[in-house]
Amino acid sequence: MNLTDFKNIINTDQIGKEMYQLMSELYPICRSITGNGVRETFNIIKKHIPLTVHEVPTGTKVFDWTVPKEWNIKDAYVKNSRGEKIVDFKNSNLHVLNYSMPVKKKVSLQELKDHLFTSPEYPEWIPYRTSYYKENWGFCVSYNQFLSLTEDEYEVFIDSSIENGHLTYGEYYIKGKKIDEILISCHVCHPSLCNDNLSGIVLAVFLAKYLTQIPLNYSYRFLFIPGTIGSITYLCLNESNVSKIKHGLVAACLGDSGKFTYKKSRQGNAEIDRAGINVLKNSKANYEILDFTPFGYDERQYCSPGFNLPVGCFMRTPHGRYPEYHTSADNLDFVRPQYLEESLSKYLSVLNILENNKKYLNKNPKCEPQLGRRGLYQAIGGQQDKKLRELAMLWVLNLSDGGNTLLDISDRSGLEFDSIKDAADALFNHELLKECPE
Ligand code: ZN
Repeated sequence: MNLTDFKNIINTDQIGKEMYQLMSELYPICRSITGNGVRETFNIIKKHIPLTVHEVPTGTKVFDWTVPKEWNIKDAYVKNSRGEKIVDFKNSNLHVLNYSMPVKKKVSLQELKDHLFTSPEYPEWIPYRTSYYKENWGFCVSYNQFLSLTEDEYEVFIDSSIENGHLTYGEYYIKGKKIDEILISCHVCHPSLCNDNLSGIVLAVFLAKYLTQIPLNYSYRFLFIPGTIGSITYLCLNESNVSKIKHGLVAACLGDSGKFTYKKSRQGNAEIDRAGINVLKNSKANYEILDFTPFGYDERQYCSPGFNLPVGCFMRTPHGRYPEYHTSADNLDFVRPQYLEESLSKYLSVLNILENNKKYLNKNPKCEPQLGRRGLYQAIGGQQDKKLRELAMLWVLNLSDGGNTLLDISDRSGLEFDSIKDAADALFNHELLKECPE
């Protein structure tokens, strides 16, 4: 079975549920750009795919950056003078400023407030804040709780460590017919936040799991890396291999109810950009196309001028455009199985184009060949299908001059890639086309 057949027969309902189940398992873990939260996450992912886990030591120079010390945390709380825990890491790992230094002391209300982070715009929610490269300690609380705090002597306790250790990242490689690669990259550094980016992680896991089961033209490389420092580390340590990457997608924000968004690679007109746009144009739903910008997720590194890889970002609602972003409201209620499954289907459609984007040459280019005589008008479906099939065949015959790919023909005709591919297959089987060498 190939990818085209596969994407048409999968039980998407069931897959959405399984993706959501994995997300629920990963949700409670306190992740960061380094540390045991990432390792624990990989141990769970390994139940689905045989991930290779890499450990890069603290202090490793990676281009202009250095792999930081490893952060781990066991517990944290704020107690009032009556000994009541008013902020508890065990209730939500977002309560601790990610990468907080350890602290244990008594503080006044004023000093406590200097180390509290809130989001006044959304007074009910706990914001997600980090301090990776600047030593600090702090707690994140809802703005309502912040306002309710009274003069008191508070005990602050953060049982964390920042020590020499490793940056941990995961890699999974599927060997296809070609050594040319398609990269799927997602960030694994966020704690209990679902859309950004457990949705990207579970999408990558299930995509990897299913692609493993079918024959593929391209080889696939899945990266599960901490944001920014992870992609910089990967690119630095694997620089000699990076030229094999012919197409790539950064997977993030794929579980919310918003419309699909494709952010183009820096190249702007790469095959991956055209495939992503083609899928959205034919989706019969709202969508948005964004030009490349040097901010966002790890596409920033893949698309830095020294690499300029054709890597886009296929999302639903982009980061920062939904109020729940980077708050405790980006939780298991915000993301639904149905949206995860739709996202997976879209990824399969994009990959289906890349896998099958061949170029053909019409062997009978002088006027149209007589299709009826060859039984090529006989469609199995209804009149509508028959008309569409005929149209697709005429487009393929006309544009198969050795210069156009099937994606070019789909774009120019406005017909779905699969219709164009079916027509090309039929014409090829009737020896009206020959395949052009790559
Ligand atoms: Zn984020």
